[in-house]
Amino acid sequence: MSSIADVYRKEKGNLIVLSGPSGVGKGTICKELLRYYSDIVYSISATTRKARLGEVHGKDYFFYSKDEFLKMVEEDAFLEWAKVYDNYYGTPKLFVEEITSRGKDCILEIDVQGALQVKERKPEGVFIFIVPPSKEELIRRITCRGTENEKEVAKRMEKVDDEIALLPQYDYMVENDNLQKAVELIRCIILAERTRIHNHKK
Ligand code: ADP
Ligand code: 5GP
Repeated sequence: MSSIADVYRKEKGNLIVLSGPSGVGKGTICKELLRYYSDIVYSISATTRKARLGEVHGKDYFFYSKDEFLKMVEEDAFLEWAKVYDNYYGTPKLFVEEITSRGKDCILEIDVQGALQVKERKPEGVFIFIVPPSKEELIRRITCRGTENEKEVAKRMEKVDDEIALLPQYDYMVENDNLQKAVELIRCIILAERTRIHNHKK
């Protein structure tokens, strides 16, 4: 027999979109979240970028050639896709559908172009923008990460103002000044969203 709460509980899991400028800490936050909370599933993106040292196909990303990626675009395999800097990135649609249909929350760590595409298609998603404490700190973080050269860091910084201008289109803003605090805030958002009442009339 179902409980009173079951009648009003949403059947599908939430689609949680983490977005924000490059170097703000999206990937780090996501890894921490997934390390502590096994009830959230990470959406593994497809990309045409080359794997970095230690990155594993099927764990960090699905690494594809440009031809393979564009074929998937033609086949409508992506929930969203975008050219970010010099490479293509996309969220495989079937995986997200399968996870959320099973009542599990699925987290997407994607750029702002992709996040807004998801918002068009899945307005019921939970959209979280991660903001850096300052631009100086953002430069420091990208530089310290050591995965981009000076030119690439500058390219990322050129886009920051345009990305932050899109912040009002999100549901939540989390400042990543302290990693553990940011992770806990996002955890609270995810838990609160699970208590949202499913309105059968909508
Ligand atoms: P993104 O995925 O948004 O591009 P990353 O997760 O790769 O960013 O983080 C960029 C760099 O910033 C990494 O070196 C990471 O260790 C560091 N970082 C992330 N969060 C914090 C924080 N709260 N304080 C200091 N450094 C951080
Ligand atoms: P990186 O190459 O550093 O892993 O990621 C570069 C940027 O691409 C980051 O801002 C990251 O959030 C974004 N990204 C990763 N996967 C996807 C995706 O599937 N779709 C979109 N639109 N952006 C993505």
